[in-house]
Amino acid sequence: MIRQNLHTHSVWDDGANSLGELSLAANAAGLDSLGFSIHTPMPFPSCWTLQEERLPDYTLAVRKVKDALSGIIAIYHGAEWDLLSTMPLDGFDYVIGSIHHIHAGERGSCVDNTPQMTKQYIAELFGGSADAAAEAYFAQYEALAKVTKVDIVGHFDLLTKFDETDHCYDADSPRFRAAALNAMDALVAADKIFEINTGAISRGYRKTPYPSRALLLELCRRKARITVSADAHAVSDVAFGFAEAEALAIDCGFTEVWQFDGCGFVPIPIGGGG
Ligand SMILES: [Zn+2]
Ligand SMILES: [Zn+2]
Repeated sequence: MIRQNLHTHSVWDDGANSLGELSLAANAAGLDSLGFSIHTPMPFPSCWTLQEERLPDYTLAVRKVKDALSGIIAIYHGAEWDLLSTMPLDGFDYVIGSIHHIHAGERGSCVDNTPQMTKQYIAELFGGSADAAAEAYFAQYEALAKVTKVDIVGHFDLLTKFDETDHCYDADSPRFRAAALNAMDALVAADKIFEINTGAISRGYRKTPYPSRALLLELCRRKARITVSADAHAVSDVAFGFAEAEALAIDCGFTEVWQFDGCGFVPIPIGGGG
């Protein structure tokens, strides 16, 4: 059973609850460790990230919760860093590398805002070609492979967030798959850990986690390392869908997940494997 979630947002970025509330909820949900993964600032105004000048206060707040709950639940100080973020990554226990923004030349858009915005940026930035948008998106993930401080690949196919209800992308198209697999190859070669992320399920957008089953099978074929995370933005979601995510990982052929132990990442057997 998975007892760790390294992907958590609080009131310090775009989450609904305090660090303490989330930590106690994680303990009540049976987790033995919780990592906060603050959204680092973007190079333009954004309401969902930490404001850089608040980083010292935030770091102190995480340390206080960690100390207060010592012996009850282990607390880690992580970051969810976007390739466009300019904030240095020193001082974090671990880093999730995620892409939230897509751009063509000088113009760009958030990728996970609404189905309408998704259709609009495909039309306006990529001439209506979802495949071209997917190529631009996955090229950024490919670039993450070169960032040594990134440990975990966050929500690898976030761009398909609305596809279960509003068809924006064709994840089976040859161009989409080639772009995704190119990025995957680079990230696996760099030994990055891919997360199975249940956050879009808990928030009602999807019935399946990121990455898709098809991509998970490709990851397993490449002997990639995986972890399971909730991308939690509220106390109700700190371990959301973990049993289902673990079952999916086992079904795709994985025998272990990787977890952070305070120093580095270690494999934990799943499904009686290992
Ligand atoms: Zn994210
Ligand atoms: Zn997140």
